[in-house]
Amino acid sequence: MSIEVKNVTKIYGEQKALDAISFSVEPGNIVGFLGPNGAGKSTMMKIITCFIPQTSGSVSVCGYDVIENPIDVKRQVGYLPEHNPLYLDMYVKEYLDFVGGVYKIDNRKGRVKEMIDMVGLEIEQNKKIGALSKGYRQRVGLAQAMIHDPKVLILDEPTTGLDPNQLEEIRGLIKTIGKEKTIMLSTHIMQEVEAICDKTIIINHGKIVANDTTKELQKQQAQEIVLTVEFDKPVETKELQTIDGVLQVKRSKDNLWLLEIKEDNVRNNIFQFAMKKELVVLTMQKETQSLESVFKNLTT
Ligand code: ADP
Ligand code: MG
Repeated sequence: MSIEVKNVTKIYGEQKALDAISFSVEPGNIVGFLGPNGAGKSTMMKIITCFIPQTSGSVSVCGYDVIENPIDVKRQVGYLPEHNPLYLDMYVKEYLDFVGGVYKIDNRKGRVKEMIDMVGLEIEQNKKIGALSKGYRQRVGLAQAMIHDPKVLILDEPTTGLDPNQLEEIRGLIKTIGKEKTIMLSTHIMQEVEAICDKTIIINHGKIVANDTTKELQKQQAQEIVLTVEFDKPVETKELQTIDGVLQVKRSKDNLWLLEIKEDNVRNNIFQFAMKKELVVLTMQKETQSLESVFKNLTT
């Protein structure tokens, strides 16, 4: 396994940021770590990259334990932190050369050039980092994370704050890099995992609420059907809940309801219910569900 997380808990003072989390990441995958703000994504990533220690549980990267072999772990891992703290007064090349020095890599000059080519920084390579757009700063961040040729990349919200064009470019770059490396990236945007991740781990309040291939998560959701139903007269939530096969009831507005059902034939029961209560069904429509609703269902 590239990353193996077992029963990890992290407590900050009184607050439990991670609650007995376990998951693993296979080599070669692009895994999305999806969750709302405050879910614990950055905390988990800082533990994997040896920036902070867990309170309990164990984490290993390429077989090296983060507590026992932090130096080996750091050799295997490249990290793009959430608020990519670049030295704005440094020139792009100078900065990458500096990072290369920290890792004591051979042929620094050649490697810096290679990284500049790889992330598409040729035009901007002689500028100060402070003069670059957010998209180009993220490219510098990616180059910095990869300069020592790690097997695993940990990218914390790599596309947050980018405009749509930059977003598209950075996603493309991550996909390309993902052909060579194992990548774990965090995001609070569902479309992001749909666009680039083979697997998705959803985290909420420090707990894992889903862990599957992105395709499977999309498929599972497709089996849960949400109907929008409009009656001609008011009706009580309680009454709708008595209909056989209706799993959840939510009022959309006035006499418009959202009913979550498991199977299509429940529609029959709804019509019969309406007849019994002398209600008229004005509309009944199936909603198509995306991964976005899986996320919402699991995290609210
Ligand atoms: P995410 O990256 O998913 O937004 P974080 O891992 O940053 O979530 O935070 C998880 C929880 O831990 C949040 O409630 C946050 O306020 C809390 N937290 C994060 N860092 C610290 C810290 N250094 N001290 C105290 N609480 C923290
Ligand atoms: Mg975060």
